[in-house]
Amino acid sequence: MRTRHAGAATLAALTALTLAACGGGEVGGGGGEETGGADGGETIKIGIKFDQPGLGYQDGSEYTGFDTDVARYVAEKLGFSEDQIEWVEAPSANRETMLQTGQVDMIFATYSITDERKEQVAFAGPYFIAGQDLLVAEDNTDITGPDDLEGKNLCSVTGSTSAQRIKDEYAEGVQLVERPGYAECVTALTAGQVDAVTTDDIILAGLAAQDANKGKVKVVGNPFSEENYGVGLPQDNDRCEDINAAITSMIEDGAWEEAVTSNTEGTGYTPNADLNPPTTDACA
Ligand code: GLU
Repeated sequence: MRTRHAGAATLAALTALTLAACGGGEVGGGGGEETGGADGGETIKIGIKFDQPGLGYQDGSEYTGFDTDVARYVAEKLGFSEDQIEWVEAPSANRETMLQTGQVDMIFATYSITDERKEQVAFAGPYFIAGQDLLVAEDNTDITGPDDLEGKNLCSVTGSTSAQRIKDEYAEGVQLVERPGYAECVTALTAGQVDAVTTDDIILAGLAAQDANKGKVKVVGNPFSEENYGVGLPQDNDRCEDINAAITSMIEDGAWEEAVTSNTEGTGYTPNADLNPPTTDACA
């Protein structure tokens, strides 16, 4: 008994050493609390939005949207089947902290790659390029772009590039209201509390197509930025190259196109074809 026990322990130790030496099979990087195990019980924690239909959306026990489809594809290439994925809500304002504290291993959450964010986290990708736009009431005719916002109440989300750009470039005369998520902003818009909502066009299109909002709001369709959606990673990760390879493979084998099409169906949204599909950046 004793011998057998010691044998098993030795084997486990050897296996761990071998895995560490090969750098394979390790769910490493970033102080995450991945539970190892030769029993195949490893999981990976993926941060997504829960309230952005067509991108990252919690529908009962299902998680749908383009971000989740890219995440599933990438996870699979990293060796994680869907039932090994633990989906975690990653609101815009919390993403950097969640990666830094190991609450998640990677983030697929309409997360724009920016130099400022790169001071705190790393990115693979991009896997999609969107553009900041405006959502207004269906019958609105006076807001056709960001220059028409003077004297208006505008809603966006705390910690987003969307809110930051308004503060940096269009702050004068704009009353910016910040909410934790874009769905809350759309509620404020349909209730007449704000004149417009701003964030990426693909996010606005998904929200506008929801039954509750249909016929009440419209996307202006005049994008004024380039938002490169990256896969957020802890800075000390060892996964960036593998994730980029997975994204490239998803684009080449047609799964990317299929995911874009199925997740934007019925929204009237088409990606900017000059920018999509993108080419991944070199890993830092
Ligand atoms: N892509 C922008 C960002 O990363 C806006 C969307 C979002 O808040 O997730 O901040």
